[in-house]
Amino acid sequence: MIKAISLHKKFRNLLAVNNISFTIELGTVVGFLGPNGAGKSTTMRILAGFYQADSGKASICGYDVFKNRFDAQAFLGYLPEAPGGFQVLTVREFLVYCGESRGVWGHQLEVAINRVTELIDLGLALDKKIATLSKGWRQRAWLAQAILHDPPALILDEPTDGLDPNQKEHIRTLIRSICPKKAIILSTHILEEAEEICDRAIIINKGKIVADDTPRNLGDANGRIAQSFRSLTNEEADRD
Ligand code: ADP
Repeated sequence: MIKAISLHKKFRNLLAVNNISFTIELGTVVGFLGPNGAGKSTTMRILAGFYQADSGKASICGYDVFKNRFDAQAFLGYLPEAPGGFQVLTVREFLVYCGESRGVWGHQLEVAINRVTELIDLGLALDKKIATLSKGWRQRAWLAQAILHDPPALILDEPTDGLDPNQKEHIRTLIRSICPKKAIILSTHILEEAEEICDRAIIINKGKIVADDTPRNLGDANGRIAQSFRSLTNEEADRD
């Protein structure tokens, strides 16, 4: 379970995260939607233990992210936005490094790497250096590290960013297939993606949640949520 209670985070004078609260149960995929700069990545970084909130509480599977960060992170897979680094490693070396950092070793790690390689169709990239990969392959390598230890909670910041249409569809199918056992929050700019794979959509604007409902309830007669999204997040949308 992923829980946020009244999170606040300021950068100088900018209230980037303003009273964000939600609970995501196991077996649920939540789309975290909002315009650029709305506060999605900041909220996700707080939940993943990478930023300290100014106030509020967050927990992963019952572990307080601020008081027991390492316990909380053990139950979490996190795909950061536009991930980089580890350029000199091959994908396999990267996954070994990530697995060992999480306490997965030897045969168990080998089995885990084989599992994610198959799930994400990563075989062709496994022995290539990360520096030589296209954005789509790199994104898949980072997604692989997020699910390597089979965590019950996943925070995925734009998981399909940089992927071609076939790869996007593959990852959406993967997310749906692993969701019965997991609590998943993913940010995306692709509203159709939220309509297709999310049980629930949380729309955030200027740091505040402006909607938290099913895509069906947020959708128009054709099930499209674009109109709701636009009216809730345009410049005229209310701000306290
Ligand atoms: P989103 O992910 O929805 O695009 P972000 O959470 O990245 O939004 O950013 C929310 C706001 O906080 C933006 O105005 C952004 O410029 C600002 N911001 C994010 N990270 C920092 C930071 N490290 N320092 C200062 N401002 C930041």
